[in-house]
Amino acid sequence: MSLPAVSGGGLTGGQAADASSKQRKPHHVAIISAASAAVGSSAAYWLAGASNRSKEVELEIEVFEREGYIGGRSKVVFPHNSKAFQLVKLGASIFVAANKDLIRPAQEFGLTLTAPGGELGGANITEDGFSQADEARVVARYGLDSITHTQDLTQDMLNHYLVLYNITTPDWKDVARISAFLNLTWLTSQTTEAYLLPQGIGEKYIVEMLEGDTRVNYAQQFVQRSGAQVHLNTEVKSLTKLSKQWLLTTSDETPYFFDSIILAVPFHLSNITPPHPFHTPIPPQPYVHLHVILFTTSSSMPKYSYFHLKNASAPVTVLTTSEGVVHGGPKPEFNSLMYQGPLSAPFRGCEEHVVKLFSEWEVGDE
Ligand SMILES: Cc1cc2nc3c(=O)[nH]c(=O)nc-3n(C[C@H](O)[C@H](O)[C@H](O)COP(=O)(O)OP(=O)(O)OC[C@H]3O[C@@H](n4cnc5c(N)ncnc54)[C@H](O)[C@@H]3O)c2cc1C
Repeated sequence: MSLPAVSGGGLTGGQAADASSKQRKPHHVAIISAASAAVGSSAAYWLAGASNRSKEVELEIEVFEREGYIGGRSKVVFPHNSKAFQLVKLGASIFVAANKDLIRPAQEFGLTLTAPGGELGGANITEDGFSQADEARVVARYGLDSITHTQDLTQDMLNHYLVLYNITTPDWKDVARISAFLNLTWLTSQTTEAYLLPQGIGEKYIVEMLEGDTRVNYAQQFVQRSGAQVHLNTEVKSLTKLSKQWLLTTSDETPYFFDSIILAVPFHLSNITPPHPFHTPIPPQPYVHLHVILFTTSSSMPKYSYFHLKNASAPVTVLTTSEGVVHGGPKPEFNSLMYQGPLSAPFRGCEEHVVKLFSEWEVGDE
């Protein structure tokens, strides 16, 4: 099967091929997982676009999703479980211009892009919860050079990664290989501190800001527009290769037959039994267990006494570092705490604020 590469518009743009000129029997594709802006949904969207442009091949796409919603780890929730309030992002929320897989569909969907305060990851020091006064304090503490030089290095790094979008970039089977292709192996074999210090970035900025940022954590339109048939609440249990097709069985015990399968799930979290060991085994991934805690509070800032602050105010964005642990101290109780803004409407007559907390362990209500 050969499909035209993405070059023109998306599903609505470009030259749609005349359906009557295509092969009679559509190629039947299953996509396992419907994570919103991520692998499964975008695969459905881009494949549907390629099928639309192809003169020979017509694809019939079905998406299987274990959960009852589209989105995977890019999940949103409503405070107090009520749609009367604004939605809050629980998982993916960082949206950077370098992510062309998100930027391009956003343009194709006609979405308006706004800058809520910039990008994390060193590309911009401004982020949600940072006021101009905060920025001034950051510059005073770390110096403008560390900040601007980190931005330059980040851009340089992004330029390496943008090569991934080139059509000439070879396939890769593991991270080590693509890292070598991108000429980044020398970089990944050292710590961030060892890389940045000789480049003149201040130690305080590395330890307090950059480490804090990296400790923090480590969209449904796609599927809708692809026209794919979606099976929600349907977990794929097993895959079997038949002579010409794939047999896919699901939690509802219905057998499905497909010409091609796209396995768009983190395999070791999927519970799927492959028929035979894979030709190249998928190596286990050491996932980080991270708790994302969202809560609302009538307090407009954290308790200052918790941070041993003398004046009666505390910052509404707090990033922690592991510097204390390195010197034999206890682990911080959380990775980051960020006030996300006020609740869009009073709750039981009371103004509230939405707070997001990332932590390596569960945090109780107290
Ligand atoms: C707290 C947090 C914050 C993050 N912040 C950002 C951010 O700001 N910016 C960013 O770009 N990225 C962020 N990420 C990372 C981003 O969420 C992931 O990289 C992305 O969601 C991965 O997409 P995926 O499609 O590979 O997997 P997932 O999103 O995990 O989706 C996999 C899907 O497959 C389904 N599934 C699994 N097994 C089966 C099965 N057997 N049958 C059917 N369906 C199955 C699951 O239900 C799920 O919907 C964040 C992640 C977390 C956890």
